Amino acid sequence: MRKIVLASNNEKKVKELKNMLNEHNFEICSLKDENIDIDVVEDGSTFEENALKKASEIYKYLLTNNKGDALVLADDSGLEIDYLNGEPGIYSARYSGEHGNDYANNIKLLDRMKSAKGEERRGRFVCALALIGNDTNEVIRGAVEGYIKEELMDGDFFGYDPLFFYPGFNKTFAEASSEEKNSVSHRGNALKELKKILIQL
Ligand code: IMP
Repeated sequence: MRKIVLASNNEKKVKELKNMLNEHNFEICSLKDENIDIDVVEDGSTFEENALKKASEIYKYLLTNNKGDALVLADDSGLEIDYLNGEPGIYSARYSGEHGNDYANNIKLLDRMKSAKGEERRGRFVCALALIGNDTNEVIRGAVEGYIKEELMDGDFFGYDPLFFYPGFNKTFAEASSEEKNSVSHRGNALKELKKILIQL
């Protein structure tokens, strides 16, 4: 069975991707599963550039280790708020300054939006997926629109999920089940397109 290596060290992201890819005919592994300890520097200026960079660097590593028949899937994602001129955007994971501190990122976002009302609180999650292998080189974008809540709910959630209110569910992504979230999310939408490519490989 052909392997897909997920080029991410973010456990919550890896969990979502693994859940959504599980019905496909591929063995899905994380960097951790493969004992790959590489932290790719995300210095691109778009989600797409960063996703491609992450996938390419991990694929190069696989090639030099005679594992070039595997595919690499990278996800670069984040939240865009028009009221904040697109912030936090590609800096979503390190908005507060400390990479991966979801709580501090949410608090900073609430503070930056404290004067925003109604439609000004609109935002979107964006996800760029890059798939690289010896027979493929693809980048796909998915997005989902919602609103930023005025208060943060307690709990251990993924990124901005506790602030992202999805009107179609009348609740935040943190309150939605994983099936609900995946059916409409930026990552879910990008994966729907990606699966059309995967079935041809
Ligand atoms: P990346 O690892 O550089 O792509 O950073 C992605 C960041 O965007 C995460 O750390 C989260 O802060 C945010 N993010 C992306 N997707 C989601 C999601 O599905 N839910 C909540 N936050 C997300």
